[in-house]
Amino acid sequence: MSTTWHVLGAGSLGTLWATRLARAGLPVQLILRDAARLQAYQAAGGLTLVEQGEAQHYAIPATTLERVGPVDRLLVACKAYDAEGAVAQLANRLTPDAELILLQNGLGSQDAVAARVPHARCIFASSTEGAFRDGDWRVVFAGHGYTWLGDARQPVAPVWLEDLSAAGIPHEWSTDILTRLWRKLALNCAINPLTVLHDCRNGGLQQHPCEVATLCTELSELLEHCGQPAAAHDLQQEVERVILATAANYSSMYQDVANQRRTEISYLLGYACVVASRHQLVLPHLNQLQQRLIAHLRTRGLPSD
Ligand code: NAP
Repeated sequence: MSTTWHVLGAGSLGTLWATRLARAGLPVQLILRDAARLQAYQAAGGLTLVEQGEAQHYAIPATTLERVGPVDRLLVACKAYDAEGAVAQLANRLTPDAELILLQNGLGSQDAVAARVPHARCIFASSTEGAFRDGDWRVVFAGHGYTWLGDARQPVAPVWLEDLSAAGIPHEWSTDILTRLWRKLALNCAINPLTVLHDCRNGGLQQHPCEVATLCTELSELLEHCGQPAAAHDLQQEVERVILATAANYSSMYQDVANQRRTEISYLLGYACVVASRHQLVLPHLNQLQQRLIAHLRTRGLPSD
């Protein structure tokens, strides 16, 4: 009997994983925040995944944080700012050998979760897959990509990676997951806040090459200082390549702000600034960018953390 995949958070990525695992015949249970959300889910009768314009319905069993039974394997698919609090609520249901897979973008939330559940194995993930909700319990698979998974404390790959292969979830076990997460964080810091402040698509940053270059220099310095020289390698070239390759796209932070949603700033630019100050590094442009972004979020009535 396969181990059940408990999926905490039935949003974009949670739905993308849960539906593909379930259609491969693997046992999946969704964990929703409370009885009201469970009732709404039951009224909808399941999750809908839209792929290439085709909607498929999946009646995946669900429960609540309060009522979930023993959990061996937990896919944490909340936003970074919700992950620690949600995991804390079910910490006493985790079995002694429990494993958590943390899908959060940025850095900081993974360590906060791991500290809440010191006996569990926490596997960090970094994904380039893209999905968005176009209704409650309904998710559009917008961009194919890859998910890297790794555990900085224990390099041995878990056996359940074969479940991901069976489910058609493209993935790779990574022995340098922190380097991947830092690199992605640096790319995000160099691009996303500027798209919000300049009110533009990613390609609009081609009009601001000096600002981008200065940020890349400071971010590279930060990465070198925190033992991540590989994440600093040719950062500016990659940022410029991403700006060109995704010129027509709006960044995730831009979309969050445009839709009046809370951003993950504290786990991206905010995290970079905290680590810089911990290392007593002076990075004036990065700090100024953070202050400008916080001021912008406040004027929009959005949380600045
Ligand atoms: P999302 O669509 O907002 O989904 C988050 C889900 O978490 C929501 O369904 C929310 O429930 C649920 N949740 C929050 N607190 C909870 C709690 N206490 N108990 C149970 N459920 C709870 O977010 P997402 O886009 O999937 O993003 C998740 C993470 O993946 C983020 O860190 C994001 O940066 C990262 N990521 C996303 C993508 C993407 O394309 N979407 C790509 C790469 C990385 P409600 O429905 O009740 O609000």
